[in-house]
Amino acid sequence: MRQLIIIGSGPAGYTAAIYAARANLAPLVIASSVEAGGELTKTTEVENYPGFAEGIQGPDLMIEMQKQAERFGAEIVLDDVTDLQLEGQIKKVTLGNGDVHEALAVVFATGSAYRKLGLPDEERLSGYGVSWCATCDGFFFRKKTIAVIGGGDSAMEEATFLTKFADKVYVIHRKGELRASKAMQERAFSDPKIEFLWNKAVTGISGSELVDGIDLVDTVDGTESHLDLSGVFIAIGADPRTHLVHDQLDINADGTVAVDGRSSRTNITGVFAAGDVIDPTYRQAVTAAGSGTVAALDAEHYLASLPRELVAGAVQPTELEVPEAAAVPTPA
Ligand code: NDP
Repeated sequence: MRQLIIIGSGPAGYTAAIYAARANLAPLVIASSVEAGGELTKTTEVENYPGFAEGIQGPDLMIEMQKQAERFGAEIVLDDVTDLQLEGQIKKVTLGNGDVHEALAVVFATGSAYRKLGLPDEERLSGYGVSWCATCDGFFFRKKTIAVIGGGDSAMEEATFLTKFADKVYVIHRKGELRASKAMQERAFSDPKIEFLWNKAVTGISGSELVDGIDLVDTVDGTESHLDLSGVFIAIGADPRTHLVHDQLDINADGTVAVDGRSSRTNITGVFAAGDVIDPTYRQAVTAAGSGTVAALDAEHYLASLPRELVAGAVQPTELEVPEAAAVPTPA
């Protein structure tokens, strides 16, 4: 049995692992079989993560986080969780390979998945003109013509932000009215660099190596058209990955896992949630990392409140092979 199992290996999961390992909780991280490192492994340059003045490639950042967690004794398993039993003092985590792990506490940090348009070239051109994150990638579109797809607050925020870089930003929405709040609509309407294309659905994204345009269809009269541009920002919402827990944890109306105030505590004692799976708004690597810290600290406090003999029965750091570097004393 483990003291702590962390599910997820994005910035929230790995940061929770770093803190938990340094607190001698010997955490086991279930990092996914195909997506270890989370959404950042699908991006290119990350220029807004503090500490990297020259920027860092998303996959490299996640490898560094993984190494940092392992350095202090976190054990990482590249498999998927297929079943979770969270009620009771001992939690059960079943993996794709059939292994069942037990733990006294669980940090749930499975992130969220940006909604996709579902177009054939969307994945291929991801990072090459197709993006889901204006704050991450807007900088690469200085003086370009680009489009933002969507009609919610995210789309308005992204479009407004992108006018700092791009010469022209089309907002393409499948309806004739926006879902976004009035204030955010007004800001976008009054921006001379933004042009709205109403009742238009994107049917294709073109470009051999980089995006060079999109195909549109009018959702009212069916007219087809093409728009030349260099970038497409898809802002049609994101879905927190909660399918493993939706029948056990309280879920908010927006689909995120409900936590108690600013803590990471869920409705089940000993179960903590962190990162994009609890955050409908900010969804940044650095905010997810902060959230992972909160979850590790909450888990640590919880474990400290349990009977000593119960915790002593779980895997201790001394029973794990901790790399030499972890033994180096760190300043308090
Ligand atoms: P929303 O779900 O609010 O909006 C998604 C938008 O994308 C809708 O306009 C929807 O169209 C459109 N859409 C969905 N699927 C497709 C598709 N397949 N093709 C084309 N268009 C599609 O998501 P957001 O990410 O905008 O916002 C999520 C939450 O975060 C909201 O509660 C929002 O208020 C909040 N938020 C707040 C911010 C702030 O206050 N600063 C900033 C960003 C988000 P349709 O309208 O037709 O359904």
